[in-house]
Amino acid sequence: MSYSFQTKLLHNRHKVDSQTGAVSVPIQHASTFHQFDVDQFGKYDYGRSANPTREALEDTIAHLEEGTRGFAFSSGMAAISTAFLLLSQGDHVLISEDVYGGTYRMVSEVLSRYGIQYTFVDMTNLDLVESEIQPNTKVLYVETPSNPLLKVTDIEAVAKLAKSIGAWTFVDNTFLTPALQKPLLLGADLVLHSATKFLSGHSDVVAGLAVAKDEEIANKLGFLQNSFGAVLGVQDAWLVLRGLKTLHVRLEQSVKTATKIASFLEKHPQVKKVYYPGLVSHEGCNLQHRQAKSAGAVLSFELENEEALRSFVSKVQIPVFAVSLGAVESILSFPAKMSHAAMPENERAKRGISNALLRLSVGLENEQDLIDDFERALDDTTVISANVNGRVYHGNLR
Ligand SMILES: *Cc1c(COP(=O)(O)O)cnc(C)c1O
Repeated sequence: MSYSFQTKLLHNRHKVDSQTGAVSVPIQHASTFHQFDVDQFGKYDYGRSANPTREALEDTIAHLEEGTRGFAFSSGMAAISTAFLLLSQGDHVLISEDVYGGTYRMVSEVLSRYGIQYTFVDMTNLDLVESEIQPNTKVLYVETPSNPLLKVTDIEAVAKLAKSIGAWTFVDNTFLTPALQKPLLLGADLVLHSATKFLSGHSDVVAGLAVAKDEEIANKLGFLQNSFGAVLGVQDAWLVLRGLKTLHVRLEQSVKTATKIASFLEKHPQVKKVYYPGLVSHEGCNLQHRQAKSAGAVLSFELENEEALRSFVSKVQIPVFAVSLGAVESILSFPAKMSHAAMPENERAKRGISNALLRLSVGLENEQDLIDDFERALDDTTVISANVNGRVYHGNLR
């Protein structure tokens, strides 16, 4: 019998420990494992290569993403960086232009030193993607919805294009998780996650995951995971496993609230623009609903200017003002100075990541409390700028 995603989160191979019946995966701290036979070693030998607790998480994420094999890393960046080690000198990668800042840094400042070429491209424009393909393009790297502008890329179309030139498609599925989007079923070869975000969900662990669609890429990534060695520790693997159990309910609630907040912000006169693929005004809205179950719980919005942003941030009470996303508490962040600080200002400007842009990851607080809080802070943020004889004056209407 095949269960729905919601049930699979709880009723999978690791529901009970087969030795003791424990209804929680045991945390196996051992770094090494006794071998009972000189000639025949057991399944486990050394903790970096394999560990039962980490394996339970790797198995679970593979099951949830409907892939062949899962891999757990010490951070999302460790998962992403290890995946890039699948490339060799002289290879080229085509990558979404508004990717996570750390991924941008890895590609532009680290891989480039090893002779791996890259082109950042607006992945939502398929003609552009096609025109940027080089004879040595080996990977098309997609983040959708993108960060922080929530641009939606057609995974199926990109994967088809990649396949036609013998390249792989990697998808960073951090923003939606397999609860809402399953890239491997849309043709991707590898799914990557910062499990620090929605998968674990409680702002208490840094972790990364990868899931391979087929044996070939799984074997290569398994070899790299062991070679590079950036594996996830067992306590952290257990925390991610625990967080996963509530993934469905957490996301369902947060998406509902995010939809309401996006509509509220869109109507507010102090808000210049709202970026949320759940809004019909968003150009990726139809595509988003075709390839994913919903638009997710992250949205961005732009205020009049940095002055207004500073005022709003100082007045809003409920969300924590911090980097990261995908937690039980709402998180407000300032991409230009936080997630995308690693991106030079001119590159940010090219991508529309202005100094008046805020990103909100909606948590589990009461929806009306959040809207009231935002309304109060926005109404108090009526910054007017007047340019008189070349001097800029700022004032507050209240
Ligand atoms: C946070 C994040 C990462 C990096 O993950 P870490 O766990 O912080 O290393 C990668 N991609 C996206 C989309 C993220 O939000």
